[in-house]
Amino acid sequence: MTIAFDHSYARDLPNTFLRVAPDPAPAPKLLVLNRKLAADLGLDLTEAEAALWFSGAELPPGADPIAQAYAGHQFGGFSPQLGDGRAHLLGEVITPDGRRFDIQLKGSGRTPFSRGGDGKAAIGPMLREYLISEFMAAVGVPTTRSLAVVATGEEIWRATKLPGAVLARVAASHLRVGTFQFFAARGEGDKVRQLADYAIARHYPDLAGADNPYLALLDAVIARQSRLIADWMGLGFIHGVMNTDNMAISGETIDYGPCAFMEGYAPGTVFSSIDHQGRYAYANQPLILGWNLARLAETLVPLLDPSRDTAIDIANDRLTGIAARYRRDWLAMMRRKLGLVGEDAGDAQLADDLLTAMAGADWTLTFRRLADEAMLRPLFDDFTAMEAWLPRWRTRAGDGVAQRLAAANPAVIPRNHKVEAALTAATEGDMAPFHALLAAIQTPFAEAEPFMLPAPTGFGQYVTFCGT
Ligand code: AMP
Ligand code: MG
Repeated sequence: MTIAFDHSYARDLPNTFLRVAPDPAPAPKLLVLNRKLAADLGLDLTEAEAALWFSGAELPPGADPIAQAYAGHQFGGFSPQLGDGRAHLLGEVITPDGRRFDIQLKGSGRTPFSRGGDGKAAIGPMLREYLISEFMAAVGVPTTRSLAVVATGEEIWRATKLPGAVLARVAASHLRVGTFQFFAARGEGDKVRQLADYAIARHYPDLAGADNPYLALLDAVIARQSRLIADWMGLGFIHGVMNTDNMAISGETIDYGPCAFMEGYAPGTVFSSIDHQGRYAYANQPLILGWNLARLAETLVPLLDPSRDTAIDIANDRLTGIAARYRRDWLAMMRRKLGLVGEDAGDAQLADDLLTAMAGADWTLTFRRLADEAMLRPLFDDFTAMEAWLPRWRTRAGDGVAQRLAAANPAVIPRNHKVEAALTAATEGDMAPFHALLAAIQTPFAEAEPFMLPAPTGFGQYVTFCGT
């Protein structure tokens, strides 16, 4: 088949990227292809085409690969030039229902933005992104998607020699907070304006006619990101590297690196090997939301008002509002997780008190089992606080709550020990555990006992890594 690529980014935003071809994979082997996503995109691919096109072995007709420029605050420190160091945007496709998506290869070789990196990726981390992003999609959380993972036939060096792979990623766009920062930091105000116009046209077309479209853009990104982080918190998801280059203007979860799901509820949970200060710990994510959005607002200041003082006042007003907005989004998310219908003045207290009562208990299963005390009790070392909390919740929740809980709370999440086992097997050439886990996380609301259990004691403290 042919893919009807478009290239609006390259066309509308000259000098924001570099043209560079992916490395040709020597012996591409398709590990997983997302047929459902391919169909939704209007792509009717053969496996042979997928293996060639999504590994870099061959360029699909019409592709015009580019590496995008962006900057970013990494763990709070500003890097003026990051950019796609191991990714190539092949182009955009427009779905049969009119939506535009990027198709990007990740792990496809060096670019002028690679700095010291090799431009490559190992199959473990690419399959990990595939699994976790597809889980996010299955539970309805905005996310980039995974179209395919292809082993390249090349060996790459990490701590040890590993089989290389390329991920084909699908995103509403790859515009990041860091994309705006790149041009703002260089004093290229006209480019920031072009980016903002492009972002509005692509993601928020209704805002083009607003009195102040750039302020409306800031508001829209704040709204989407606030809901997104509330969704993450509901799932116990810890992104792990919420740098500004990993925050998408579209509001999608992007860049699955050291991310993982919390098991026992502990607000300070961190998995990333390099996050020594806990900057991106579970409970810090809502604070980082505000911090990152402040960095976006700074880039937009010159567009908000001709008077710099007025513009800063406007931006500060919006930034000050984020905490209250997030708290509303969080409460709405918690009402769903608790099976509460409507709103009651006591809901926030009820939700907060559950967090206190459930310290250490499995995050996912506690919500899933709330209506079944016999199943709930074994999740707790000490049930005393729950004993007092449950009657309050039952009174508020009323009839039919078991069904609402089952619809709002996944039974299956990508458990850390299951993910690790699947990736280890895949690295050794056995894809069966990966496919079994993938099938389970694609229907996350169906009970599937072996995939639901927390890590066995002895799995130990889970550690994840960046830049893999
Ligand atoms: P990340 O932490 O994955 O969001 O990546 C941060 C930056 O490092 C981005 O500019 C990436 O493109 C770049 N990067 C990560 N891994 C590699 C690699 N193996 N080779 C080249 N660049 C990389
Ligand atoms: Mg990144």
